[in-house]
Amino acid sequence: MRVLETTVRASEGIAVGRAFVVDRCTASTSYEKGAPEVEQNRFEQALQQSREQIETLAADSEIFAAHLEIVDDPMLSDAVVAHIDEGDSAHDAVLQASAELVAMFEAIDDEYLAARAADVKDIFARIAANLTGGVKNPFEGVAEGDIVVDAELLPSDMALLDFNKIRGFVTAEGSATSHVCIIARNLSVPAVVGLKGILSEVKSGDTIIVDGSGGRVVIEPDIATLDEYKVRELNHKALLAEQQQAAGAEIFHNGERVYVFANAGSVEDVERAIAAGADGIGLFRSEFLYMQSSVEPSEQQQYEAYLSAARSCKGKPLTIRTLDIGGDKAVPYLGFEREENPFLGWRAIRVCLELRDMFCRQLRAILRASAEGNVRVMFPMVVTLEELEQAKELLEQCKSELKSQGVAYDENIKVGVMIETPAAVLIADSLASHCDFFSIGTNDLVQYVMAADRANAKVANLYNPYSKAVLRAIEMVIAAADAADVECGMCGELASDTEATELLLGMHLREYSVNISSISKIKYQLNNLLK
Ligand code: PEP
Ligand code: MG
Repeated sequence: MRVLETTVRASEGIAVGRAFVVDRCTASTSYEKGAPEVEQNRFEQALQQSREQIETLAADSEIFAAHLEIVDDPMLSDAVVAHIDEGDSAHDAVLQASAELVAMFEAIDDEYLAARAADVKDIFARIAANLTGGVKNPFEGVAEGDIVVDAELLPSDMALLDFNKIRGFVTAEGSATSHVCIIARNLSVPAVVGLKGILSEVKSGDTIIVDGSGGRVVIEPDIATLDEYKVRELNHKALLAEQQQAAGAEIFHNGERVYVFANAGSVEDVERAIAAGADGIGLFRSEFLYMQSSVEPSEQQQYEAYLSAARSCKGKPLTIRTLDIGGDKAVPYLGFEREENPFLGWRAIRVCLELRDMFCRQLRAILRASAEGNVRVMFPMVVTLEELEQAKELLEQCKSELKSQGVAYDENIKVGVMIETPAAVLIADSLASHCDFFSIGTNDLVQYVMAADRANAKVANLYNPYSKAVLRAIEMVIAAADAADVECGMCGELASDTEATELLLGMHLREYSVNISSISKIKYQLNNLLK
């Protein structure tokens, strides 16, 4: 019996089964290198072949539709050609360009761009395979109930691997925020990722246990361990079923409704969240519209996206956060300058109040969507009352324009502020008298209160949402909201943490905007606490 452990928590749950170790070797990985023109030709042919394969696959897969948008990005081919010009073979150039671009995307602390890193890696892997013998399905032979063991699972694998068929998976690379882990959590498939050394420890046919909750994998367990985990697997399944039952519930505390909203980063997320029992969307991150495209999305494109999100909410609130971009989240076409201190720099509402035409295009799109749904608008990174006043003034201007053009919108659209800076906490009472709701963004609030970068592992011990200073800040915000009779929610990660629910409920938090995979868990937790 061998046990391997990691601190990464990918997808909880227990699975016991037979290992299927994925073999990704292509026919050959070397060929005789030609002159740069020959290699460039080879690369272009492989690129064309890859594009055609992706086009076919994109017809019924969202993942490949995203690949189709990326495959022709000149950034990809420029990086490869640069290496060919330096004397590399097309195959080596593709591998090198892949490593460089992936590292560049991964260095950015942004979930959307991290997901793009995986897409880029995936596309390069396809081109490399086409250069050396063709793409094959590495999951051929996976049997019902198998546990897949692989170096890494990439987005395109999701189109080939049926998650409803396997019992769990383990990978040597990857992070908890990767696309596959998000899907695994949504489908309750136990997974352990980032487990270095797993490939040299396990072979196909071995019995393995995946303990996603503990970040542990047991290979060839002894009888006692196997029995123990079989019981744990059954208990976990029973708990999931109970949680699932709680998903549709309406929760009340002393006669007051307690809401479990969801955080969404795309229109599809909104649909998934509502189907999973969310009482609404507490944070609709609008950045995806701006980051997916190589030019600013038009007012009409934004309107269409907000409208379909609002319709998917079926009358439940849809809280659209205005563009939170800048600093570390750059959009190339906006030409942001590099900053020494991006988290303290030009981002979010600061950018929007300066790029007013762009901001107004977004506000008009939000207002137009509000005519057909329960839409709320929320401003990020506010630190002064003046910022809120200016943003509201622009909103009023947009309303007047729409009115004069005879375009419908919700005259009483609710306006909220994200409380994610110490400044906003300290002036919460003033902000409360100028808005309809707050949403506490603990992801940023923790980093600013504790002066600890949210993405820097070296200060992870300080980046602690349970620190006394952070908890006091949260308490102050909720009290200020209550005093002004303003709704107060939380959309930072802390809201999704079942261990925090009791504490937050005790502070009188009545809106929890959580990850889609946490909706039923948080509802179940609230139900239990309020029994
Ligand atoms: C937050 O800061 O808590 C938040 C929800 O916003 P983001 O994670 O998008 O910065
Ligand atoms: Mg934030």
